[in-house]
Amino acid sequence: MMQNLNIDLLINLSYIAAAVLFVLGLKKLSSPATARKGNMLSAIGMLIAIVVTLLNEIKLPWENIIAGLIVGALIGAVAARRVEMTGMPELVALFNGFGGASSLLVGLAAVFVAGTSTFTNVTIILSILIGGVTLTGSLIAYGKLSEKMPSKAIQFTGQQVFNIGLVLAILGSSIMFCLQPSAESPWLIAVIGLSLLFGIMITIPIGGADMPVVIALLNSYSGLAACAAGFVLSNNLLIVSGSLVGASGLILTNIMCKAMNRSLSNVLFSGFGATKVSSAKVEGEVKPISAGDAFLILEAAQNVCVVPGYGMAVAQAQHVVRELSDHLEENGCEVQFAIHPVAGRMPGHMNVLLAEANVPYDQLVEMDDINPQMANMDVAIVIGANDVVNPAANEDEGSPLYGMPVINVNQARTVFVLKRSMGSGFSGVDNPLFFGDNTRMLFGDAKESISHIVGEFKG
Ligand code: NDP
Repeated sequence: MMQNLNIDLLINLSYIAAAVLFVLGLKKLSSPATARKGNMLSAIGMLIAIVVTLLNEIKLPWENIIAGLIVGALIGAVAARRVEMTGMPELVALFNGFGGASSLLVGLAAVFVAGTSTFTNVTIILSILIGGVTLTGSLIAYGKLSEKMPSKAIQFTGQQVFNIGLVLAILGSSIMFCLQPSAESPWLIAVIGLSLLFGIMITIPIGGADMPVVIALLNSYSGLAACAAGFVLSNNLLIVSGSLVGASGLILTNIMCKAMNRSLSNVLFSGFGATKVSSAKVEGEVKPISAGDAFLILEAAQNVCVVPGYGMAVAQAQHVVRELSDHLEENGCEVQFAIHPVAGRMPGHMNVLLAEANVPYDQLVEMDDINPQMANMDVAIVIGANDVVNPAANEDEGSPLYGMPVINVNQARTVFVLKRSMGSGFSGVDNPLFFGDNTRMLFGDAKESISHIVGEFKG
């Protein structure tokens, strides 16, 4: 009796230690300077959680557990080593989906073993429902991010009515299951099927520049699904960690909505660009520039602002960008990096890339702080960014991007836009910046173009 009490106490103390490490880890993740440490603390918390749970609750043979751990660790290690920086957002979307799938499976397994109290059945349904929605929603997000399916919003007549019907059907099936819970219940299969369909239905109408909100929201759902699974398993730590992920995902969703000046309901229900048709003609004279001529202008510049976007990740140009920044500074020029919150394909994408290239954190400036300085900037170098510098967001009421705050590079004395073609960005919206009087297009792969300029500085 006494011994059981001690073991319980030890387990709960370990769980509290793990929960504290998660919270500290999250806190440290909020700054690039401490993010690595935060990641490490959270990983140690997770290790404690897994070991204690395995020692305490597992009734499976040890060989199975060890085999599962080895297979899982191998898949994770290979995926992490192989993934390109450009593939990270898709990988994150897939991981969210796997989190949802696990919760769905936990809920399903519990139908066979758990008790039949109404509370247990409600938690089982929630685990299956949120898990199912997260799984298929994340797979659609994966498809859109990897451009395996079109990134634009998919809408059809009667979509909202269909979705309301779907919600009612899910509610009805869930209630029926709770009234007669059984592993053979057709209502259980209905809840699973309808949840999976609902995940698809709520993700397809969101597209274009609204995708960051979906990524953050799905991240939050994966936490809520884990939290529901925690209730199913009566595991306090899973409840705590799921709530932490759910809440931080919601905060991120809010940040993304603010970054785009949209409300959550507007993002979820209006469909990006569905009703807007730009009236302004995007045309004019395109003025290309060579890397050699760009060097001459940069050599004379006193202050330069670099605006990175998704194309910098594609080109893997972050290291040469850092080199260019060093040369400019040696030349007496002040260099700042302007970071838009939705640049790239995942929250914090640009910060991660620039941190990898050891760009000092104090050189990174947020959009709201750089915009007032833009009129005094000698050169703004736009590296593979497009939507986040599109002036139509400020000027063209008909543009689907209208209202989204952007980095106002068009106000700088000279703008260099480094990209390979005149093509549009993720939102598919044309960009009048390319035709601006003060804009010079430096066509080509961003890494090659910058390497060329760096070569001129060295020469
Ligand atoms: P964009 O997607 O608007 O533009 C990227 C540009 O990079 C393209 O115009 C492309 O032009 C250029 N490019 C691609 N490859 C290269 C290369 N090798 N060298 C040089 N240029 C290249 O990127 P932004 O970062 O400006 O905006 C992000 C967009 O993605 C926003 O619409 C945002 O809402 C959305 N999004 C963001 C997410 C997030 O969480 N941050 C998640 C999902 C979507 P070209 O082909 O001509 O070279």
